[in-house]
Amino acid sequence: MQERYNISLRYLKGVGPKKVKLLNRLGLKTIEDLLYYFPRRYLNRSKLIPISQIKEGEYQAIKARVLARGDRESWQRRGFSIVEAAFGDETGKIYCVWFNQPYLKNYFKPGIEAVLYGRVEKYQGRLQMVQAEFELLSGDKDAVLNLAQIVPIYGLIEGISQRYLRKLIKHALDEFIPRVCDGLPYALRKRHNLLNLAKSLIYIHFPPDENLQQEAYRRLAFEEFFLYQIPILMRKMRRVQKKGLVHRVDGVIFNSLMQNLPFKLTAAQERVLLEIKKDMGAGSVMQRLLQGEVGSGKTIVAFLASCIAFDGGYQAAFMVPTEILAKQHYERIKYQVSNIKYQDRKIKIGLLVSSLGKKEKEKIYRELKEGKVDLIIGTHALLEEKTKFKNLGLVIIDEQHKFGVGQRALLPKKGSSPDCLIMTATPIPRTLSMTIYGDLDISTLDRLPEGRIPPQTILYSPDKRKEAYKFAAEKIKTGRQAYIVCPKIEESESFGKQSALEVYRQAQEEFRGLKVGLVHARLRQVEQDKVMSDFKEGKINILVATTVLEVGIDVANASIMLIEQADYFGLTQLHQLRGRIARGVHQPYCLLIADPKTDEAKERIEAIVNLSDGFKLAEEDLKIRGPGEFFGRRQHGLSDLKIANPLTQMHLLKEAMEEAKELLRLDSSLTQQQNLSLKEALKKRFPEYEELMAVG
Ligand code: ADP
Ligand code: MG
Repeated sequence: MQERYNISLRYLKGVGPKKVKLLNRLGLKTIEDLLYYFPRRYLNRSKLIPISQIKEGEYQAIKARVLARGDRESWQRRGFSIVEAAFGDETGKIYCVWFNQPYLKNYFKPGIEAVLYGRVEKYQGRLQMVQAEFELLSGDKDAVLNLAQIVPIYGLIEGISQRYLRKLIKHALDEFIPRVCDGLPYALRKRHNLLNLAKSLIYIHFPPDENLQQEAYRRLAFEEFFLYQIPILMRKMRRVQKKGLVHRVDGVIFNSLMQNLPFKLTAAQERVLLEIKKDMGAGSVMQRLLQGEVGSGKTIVAFLASCIAFDGGYQAAFMVPTEILAKQHYERIKYQVSNIKYQDRKIKIGLLVSSLGKKEKEKIYRELKEGKVDLIIGTHALLEEKTKFKNLGLVIIDEQHKFGVGQRALLPKKGSSPDCLIMTATPIPRTLSMTIYGDLDISTLDRLPEGRIPPQTILYSPDKRKEAYKFAAEKIKTGRQAYIVCPKIEESESFGKQSALEVYRQAQEEFRGLKVGLVHARLRQVEQDKVMSDFKEGKINILVATTVLEVGIDVANASIMLIEQADYFGLTQLHQLRGRIARGVHQPYCLLIADPKTDEAKERIEAIVNLSDGFKLAEEDLKIRGPGEFFGRRQHGLSDLKIANPLTQMHLLKEAMEEAKELLRLDSSLTQQQNLSLKEALKKRFPEYEELMAVG
């Protein structure tokens, strides 16, 4: 069975203790890991290009001989080495450089022939390939493996060479393929015309031709999507069956808040509210994801949902990622309920954050337990052992991406099957959200409240910094307030000089006569609070800050944001930050200071300058970073997807999803004979499978 090839790499020929360590660093521990260590790309020798016909800016494969080699230590940084070699064929000459791989100099002796693969660029008037993949053609012992038409190219680390890995994988395939057990049921494979697992593994590493490589790829991608869906769907099935609270909708408290709203709900808010009411009024447990652009008004929706809980005598808990945000919600909601009375009792709102004194905390714990607090707003402090409720009926989690799956699951455990509303400001395409949040129902606020003015975003290069500050100063003179955001608190070598501390110092000179404040996470909480409330009250004109601002801060008069070293921030982060200034009636301006160096950074900056729609930006961000990075490692099994890409393979994803649903409809706990190896595969491929199943 499967366990048999789940054995350590040590038992493979050619793997000593030293190599084991290196392979472990690549994440490879077992034979199976090795078989699932897929090539990053392939070098296709049938597509060799004469040097004279090379296309700049593209990946090309050439066959050429070493003409001369030089290597040097970089004069910029000590210990940084450059190996450089000139290669030529009958038609021309090209230079190849490799950084920080000094050992390469042993390979490229003049006269040696090699196949090289890499992106070609023009540098100082000559053709150049940087960090090319290569294959030496002379003196090769494993000629067959390395000289095939299509050879795999793997991600490597020093001490592990392409040819070593190829040999090892070939060896593992030869020995263990007969024992590989296919997790995809036969009938399913037939329906979708998928190769079996054994063949797929062989062809993904050593494809006889492109077509078979693609078939292998399709099969393995399908498998990943399919396996990934199953635990999610199982969880959803179990939840729907589970008995939950039946809340009383349209009660007294809910209605009196509705009548006292300071604004008219948007159509989107009305619609989402209906969806929530339907869930809360029904007998199963609500697990709803509310996605909505920054500023789309999620908070009031969440608060109205809390009122539904109060109406039945239940408590609600509202968890947010930062203290600043918790306090802001607390102040605002307290104000909103100040004149709602219910059977001669006022709605009581509590705040629970780590910085509270011991006494204050004890008091809150007590009140929560006795049911004297109706709504508790807090940070992860809510998750502590001591927090107990009398009858928790609704859990709200704001900015869910700031919490791990495990943390998110903890809060509902403090009640007996409370309803859950999970909120995110990072909307994503629907197919993808169904994949990732497949166990949640999804509501979307796709409209901003009326009258919002989209921010104008302007890019300045660092040498134009003065202009950006001047622009900001002019706007501030008209009575507006401004944020200046810096990536780091202190100066450091890798981030340059524009640290929050330094910018704060500069800003005090630059904006003479105006009041400048500073807030960052290392200040004591009372100091942070003081600065924030001074800013809110207009006592501070310019607030220098780190990304503590990223979530939720809401000061309507602040309509200018200047972001230092904007290329340092992620796209979603920039959008969240910028969302802070699009709240009032004044034209907001977002001034970016950046000198993006990498292609990725350039794409990000270009996107944020040109797009203001959060959906489009999220989509763009996903494209640039890929889903694994986008969602973060801890959050989702998405990072387990090794080759399947939900963005480019939506169609395959849908097919896999349909199949997974159908399979579970017929065999919800995977106990039928034909599904046993699937169950094994699940346990092995997703170590968190059982944990996932355990989380309510
Ligand atoms: P987010 O979705 O980013 O959490 P918030 O809930 O903080 O957004 O709302 C942003 C701002 O918009 C708040 O000041 C809120 O009072 C206001 N707001 C919410 N809904 C409406 C509405 N329907 N009309 C006008 N303003 C609204
Ligand atoms: Mg919010």
